[in-house]
Amino acid sequence: MYDAIIIGAGIGGLVCGCYLAKAGMKVLICEQHYKPGGYCTSFTRQGFTFDAAPHCFGSYRKDGMMRKILQDLEVDKKLNIIRPDPSDIIMTPDYEVIFWNDFERTTEGFQRMFPEDRTNIRNFFTLLMDTDPNSFSRMKNRTFKELLDQYLTNVKLKSILSFPFLGIGGLPSSMISAFIGAKLFSEFLFDGGYYPEGGMQALPDALAERLKEFGGELRLSCPIKKIRVRENRVTGVISEKDGFMPSRYVISNCDARQTFFKLIGGRKVEREFSQRLKKMVPSISNFIVYMGIDGHFETLPRPGTTLSFFRYYDIEKAYRSVLKGDFEGYGGYMLRASRDTPVIIAIIPVPFKNKTYWKDHKQRLSEYLIERIERDLIPNLTAHIVYKDASTPSTLNRYTLNYKGASFGWAGIPSQLAVPGLRKCSYTEGLYLTGHWTTLGVGISGVAYVGYDTAKILIRREVNRQNISFLIK
Ligand SMILES: Cc1cc2nc3c(=O)[nH]c(=O)nc-3n(C[C@H](O)[C@H](O)[C@H](O)COP(=O)(O)OP(=O)(O)OC[C@H]3O[C@@H](n4cnc5c(N)ncnc54)[C@H](O)[C@@H]3O)c2cc1C
Repeated sequence: MYDAIIIGAGIGGLVCGCYLAKAGMKVLICEQHYKPGGYCTSFTRQGFTFDAAPHCFGSYRKDGMMRKILQDLEVDKKLNIIRPDPSDIIMTPDYEVIFWNDFERTTEGFQRMFPEDRTNIRNFFTLLMDTDPNSFSRMKNRTFKELLDQYLTNVKLKSILSFPFLGIGGLPSSMISAFIGAKLFSEFLFDGGYYPEGGMQALPDALAERLKEFGGELRLSCPIKKIRVRENRVTGVISEKDGFMPSRYVISNCDARQTFFKLIGGRKVEREFSQRLKKMVPSISNFIVYMGIDGHFETLPRPGTTLSFFRYYDIEKAYRSVLKGDFEGYGGYMLRASRDTPVIIAIIPVPFKNKTYWKDHKQRLSEYLIERIERDLIPNLTAHIVYKDASTPSTLNRYTLNYKGASFGWAGIPSQLAVPGLRKCSYTEGLYLTGHWTTLGVGISGVAYVGYDTAKILIRREVNRQNISFLIK
C-alpha cells in the first residue's frame, strides 16, 4: 500500500513527489515515457543534444519560488544553473527591446525607446511585479489588453509587450488573462532565462534522483490505464505491467481530460463538472525545428539568449493567422542558439490539426522557418546545418499524452483560472491533480509551484493521521 501514487513524472509530478517523500510518505511515481521530465526533456541525435520543448525557466531570483523549491529539496546542489544576460530580446523591424538580468536596466531601455510613455512604463512594470496576494482577485477577470490600454499609449509598445503571449502561449493580449500576463512578465521575462548546465533534462533527472534519496520510487515506461475508485474514494491505480497498485491518494500530473474521461471513466465523473471540462479550451501547441550546426560561426546571434522576432504589429491578425496555420501571415518565431553546444532551435505556435496534416506540412514548414531565419537573422544558415528535425503538435502529444499537444495546459483566458475541481476532485475522495492542467500555474516554475502546493495540502491532511517527519511551513 502506497500513501500516494503520482501519475506522470513531469516537473509538477516530480516536485510534488519529492515533497511528499521528504515528509515521510510512501510515494510512487509512474511515468509512461522511458525518461522523466514530461515536456522538460532533452534528446540526442547524431551527437547533438536538443531540449525537446522548454529551453529555460524563470522565478529563480533570490526570493523566487523556483529557487525556494529547488533549495528546499536540495536539488540546487545537483545543478549548475546559469543565466544569460540578456535573457530575452524581442525584435521587430523598428525596435530591439532587451530583457537584461537587471530590472532597472530593462525598464530604462524601454523608457529610452518610448519616451512619450516614460512614466507609464515605470508604473506599468511596477504593477506587473506586484507581489500583493490580492493582485490575483484584482486581475482575475481582466484581460492583459485592458491593462495595457489603461497604462500605456504607444500602439507599437503595446504590441511588443503582447508578443511574448502570442509567441509562447499562442494568445493575443485581448484574450489572455491579466493575471497570467503579469505572472509571465514577473516570473519569466523580468526573471527568466535560467538554464541547467548540460540541458533541460538535468532538472528532472536531479529531481528524480532526489525522490529516490527521500525514499520515493519512480517507475519509468509504466503507463497507467485506470484509477480505481470504490464508493467515491480512490483505492489505487492499474498499470498494464504491474496490475493493481493500491494507494490512499492518487495524484494525476497528466492531462485533465485523460484523468477524468479515461483513467477515472466518463460515467464516474460528475455530470456538471464533465460538461464544464468538455467546454474548456486547451492552450495552443507549437512547432519546433531542431538544428545541429557545424560550430559557432560568426553570424550566430547571441548564444543562450532567447530571441523573438516579429514582422507585424497587428496582434489580432497574427493570432487569426496562427489559427489558420498561415505562417506567413503570423510573421514571427522564437529562436535560441545554445551557449555550449552547436545547436539552434526555432519555435512557432501552431494549431493541433491531425497526423496527416503534419505529415504533409512538417518538411515545408521547417524549410520555410529556416528560410525566414536566414533572411532575418542568420545569413547562410542552411550551409551550416548538419542535422535537422522537427516536432509537431502530434509529436508533443505522442511523447507526453498532453491533449492536442497543448503547450501550457488550458488556455490562459480569464474564465479558465483557478477552476474548482481541477486540483482536488470534490466527489472522489483522495484524488488530486497537479501540473499545468490545474489552471493554477504554467511553465516550469508555475508547475513546480503547483507541485509544491499540492504536496502541502496533502501533508497538512496527513499531519493528524501519522507521524510526519517534515512539515512545509
Ligand atoms: C514547445 C514548448 C516550449 C515551452 N517552453 C517553455 C519554456 O521555455 N519555459 C517554461 O517554463 N515552460 C515552457 N513550456 C511549458 C512547460 O514545458 C510546461 O508547462 C510544463 O513542463 C508542464 O509540466 P507538467 O508537469 O504540468 O506536465 P508534463 O510536462 O506534460 O508532464 C506530464 C507527464 O505525465 C506523463 N503521463 C501522461 N499520461 C500518463 C499515463 N497515463 N501514465 C503515466 N504517465 C503519464 C507524461 O508522459 C509526462 O511525463 C513549453 C512547452 C512547450 C510544449
